[in-house]
Amino acid sequence: TELAHIRNFSIVAHIDHGKSTLADRLIQSTGTVQDREMKEQMLDAMDIERERGITIKANTVRIDYTADDGQAYVLNLIDTPGHVDFAYEVSRSMRAVEGSLLVVDSSQGVEAQTLANVYQAIDADHEIVPVLNKIDLPAADCDRVAEQIEDVIGIDASGAIRVSAKTGVGIHETLEAIVKYLPAPTGTREAPLKAMLVDSWYDAYLGVIVLVRIMDGVLKKNDRIRMMQNGSVHQVDRIGVFRPAMAEIDELGPGEIGFLTASIKQVRDTRVGDTITHEKKGCEQPLPGFKPSQPVVFCGLFPADASEFEDLRQAIERLALNDASFSYEMETSAALGFGFRCGFLGLLHLEVIRDRIEREYGIDLITTAPSVVYHIHMRDGQMTELHNPADMPDLTHVSHVEEPRIKATILVPDDYLGDVLKLCQDRRGIQMDLTYVGGRAMVVYDLPLNEVVFDFYDRLKSVTKGYASFDYQLTEYRQDHLVKMSVLVNDEPVDALSMMVHRDRAEARGRVMVEKLKDLIPRHMFKIPIQAAIGGKVVARETLSAMRKDVTAKCYGGDVSRKKKLLEKQKKGKKKMRQFGRVEIPQEAFISALKMD
Ligand code: GDP
Ligand code: MG
Repeated sequence: TELAHIRNFSIVAHIDHGKSTLADRLIQSTGTVQDREMKEQMLDAMDIERERGITIKANTVRIDYTADDGQAYVLNLIDTPGHVDFAYEVSRSMRAVEGSLLVVDSSQGVEAQTLANVYQAIDADHEIVPVLNKIDLPAADCDRVAEQIEDVIGIDASGAIRVSAKTGVGIHETLEAIVKYLPAPTGTREAPLKAMLVDSWYDAYLGVIVLVRIMDGVLKKNDRIRMMQNGSVHQVDRIGVFRPAMAEIDELGPGEIGFLTASIKQVRDTRVGDTITHEKKGCEQPLPGFKPSQPVVFCGLFPADASEFEDLRQAIERLALNDASFSYEMETSAALGFGFRCGFLGLLHLEVIRDRIEREYGIDLITTAPSVVYHIHMRDGQMTELHNPADMPDLTHVSHVEEPRIKATILVPDDYLGDVLKLCQDRRGIQMDLTYVGGRAMVVYDLPLNEVVFDFYDRLKSVTKGYASFDYQLTEYRQDHLVKMSVLVNDEPVDALSMMVHRDRAEARGRVMVEKLKDLIPRHMFKIPIQAAIGGKVVARETLSAMRKDVTAKCYGGDVSRKKKLLEKQKKGKKKMRQFGRVEIPQEAFISALKMD
């Protein structure tokens, strides 16, 4: 296709503002998919995404559109992941296209992820077409939202297209705007091949499928290509586009977006953001700014049933093949036995992987509390990364500890502002900015990631009745007075409950923790001290008193089946317990004890 008749774009939006529905409607109205083949949300492939209504992997579709001027165009839509965990992947896929549709729910207005995503689009020098969606809703207020877009984002929204992705109103206008206002890609057919690796995923039949955007040159079937990051060479066996089903074609030229397969076995060998060129007569310079995405949140995954360790290993290895940003290593815990310490891009990423292990592989998991990566500076000048609080070196060797900080942006109706400020303050936040946009407050906080990673988002939702929106980016590592707090049950340390805390908060956190454990651990035949300690110093303590009665005693002589039921129930309950020394700790304790409310 001639460059002048190609338009490459993405859709940016806050979650639930209608990105997927609009994409579906664009695909459907251009006859790319016959109506009867149309499933809701064509682009959200995985079950888990469908259920949660989130799009995790970038996806793409090629749409043929004949415009009102009679000219045939090729429109390539890249669906970017909408969640903050995948910010790096979003920023790369943005660089594969020239424009964005900015979708804002006209009954809601601009939200935190609207801002985060549109700033990424602006960073990538996109031409931006604002789209006001959901105009069919009675609460739609297009004029107010257009004004908000102008005030907050600073782009002209006077010509914003008014759309209902639900009813189809404004879809034709949207297609015309894409052709008219978004720029055509540039590139040179004669230049050496330069292609961006936008995304990749594993397919059981074809091996790894690589989504590419051709910047310069031409990619053909049977070409030998080189991944510039690691120098690996592959022979291309298929080239094609998504309509949205895979359709093979002979070549991809400049400005085009499509896929290749080359008998690549692991997604790990295909890093998002890498540059692909020909093995011979390749381009000299890769595309700028490649950085592999780094896991920032770690937690332990243990099989609830120790005999399932091998199954868990296989599940984790399989998932890792398909996800280069998920890392794992074996871990042994005195409390939980054999398992894995796993690294994730963020909490959503963690949840998705955990759910897939439980659901697709049928393994019951114990997940330990998520922890961020700390930088431990030793007295001898060395720096080590701490992925697991249990591994914290002895304090006498440690010079200081640094933790990751984030810049958090929260949009919230005025009524709830006080609660939000208090929550941020409680989490060691430093207020950076507070402004008002269209009846809502926008606060920017500098926060420790550590305080956010566990339950901040849930708390924020609950104190604002769901009205706050939240987004964050990592900023820097900063020194603070951080210490390891250990928990001792019956005088023995339970490694899986160790955590890093700020020294000033240690007593308070320790108290909450031992109180919770006291409720969570069932009584035994003896009394059990539960303590929180820093170094050798106990900062909080509770005692669980001994059990007196046999629970089945009251059934004595009574209904036998009831007694049996009770015993069975006890047995079932047991499976969910972990023996620790002489004490049994229920698995839920490992997460519940660390919650802060
Ligand atoms: P995404 O998270 O941005 O991909 O949002 P979705 O496309 O999944 O839409 C979120 C919800 O809004 C779904 O329940 C849609 O059916 C609904 N929705 C999307 N567009 C419209 C619209 O134009 N009007 C109405 N009333 N609902 C819409
Ligand atoms: Mg969606």
